[in-house]
Amino acid sequence: MTQLADIKKINVDINKIENEFIAEKKISLSVLRLDKIHPEISGNKFFKLYYFLEQAITEQKKIITFGGAYSNHLAATAGACKEFGLNCIGIVRGEEPKNISHTLLFCKKQGMHLEFISREKYNRKDGEDFKIELTDKFGDHILIPEGGYSIKGAEGAALISNLYQSTDFDYICCAAGTATTLSGLIKSSTPSQKIIGFNALKDLANFEARIQFLLSSHVDKNYSLINDFHFGGYAKKTSELISFINKFYEAFAIPTDFVYTAKMMYGVFELIKRNYFPAGSKIICIHTGGLQGNLSLPAGTLNF
Ligand SMILES: *Cc1c(COP(=O)(O)O)cnc(C)c1O
Repeated sequence: MTQLADIKKINVDINKIENEFIAEKKISLSVLRLDKIHPEISGNKFFKLYYFLEQAITEQKKIITFGGAYSNHLAATAGACKEFGLNCIGIVRGEEPKNISHTLLFCKKQGMHLEFISREKYNRKDGEDFKIELTDKFGDHILIPEGGYSIKGAEGAALISNLYQSTDFDYICCAAGTATTLSGLIKSSTPSQKIIGFNALKDLANFEARIQFLLSSHVDKNYSLINDFHFGGYAKKTSELISFINKFYEAFAIPTDFVYTAKMMYGVFELIKRNYFPAGSKIICIHTGGLQGNLSLPAGTLNF
């Protein structure tokens, strides 16, 4: 990638998932491989960052954003800032441990400056006082909310729809954390399409209010949030989920991550089993990347 705008027209693989069960249900199932767009900046995060990066490049400003020790968002921001020659600061939740996570090590390697703050202070990060403190300490900057949760983030996520032919699909599935990516997909959808979010959190607070905030103008309700496949909550896992990841990779050679994309794919198969999708449905699942998160699993857990 040489220019930021290249991401709008990048060629991304769409893999067809075929087996007897899916054929019997008369479903067409595909996966958009956003995990493959860039070695360091995988998945939906790049798109959510798009308009922030554009502004930072134009105005030559540094970026400040937030996340926890395993945050895909921090990793993607660090990778993107390196790629486009921007300075960036990551505000990390919790005191600095002796051994920092593989995610934070990666961020440092990309040149991100890490600033650890207490959880108590982190909870106040959206307040005016904290924002003033950031400006005093780091000067003029562009602030990106945690996880890219913002109208701008949703507008960036809407660019994902450039990468597939809209008329080819009736259902668009994606994993949901802050619901920003889901909102972008809703924004760019046609009225006859249905967008299905698979909640990766146990309690995604006020989902409808989030969608309203992120999509100030969208009125059609062509979306649903499925809450049945979080496997105990954010970043929780069971042996069944791990076994699914390995079987899915064995069958289709697509790696998934245990926090988001595996839960979505598991959920999609379950819904197909439950005849949620009418025969003849054409489904595209957005592989939102996040594979770096699997590095927190013990070695040998996964077969890829
Ligand atoms: C962050 C993330 C999501 C969730 O995206 P939201 O826009 O916050 O809903 C989904 N999948 C992966 C792999 C992610 O890293």
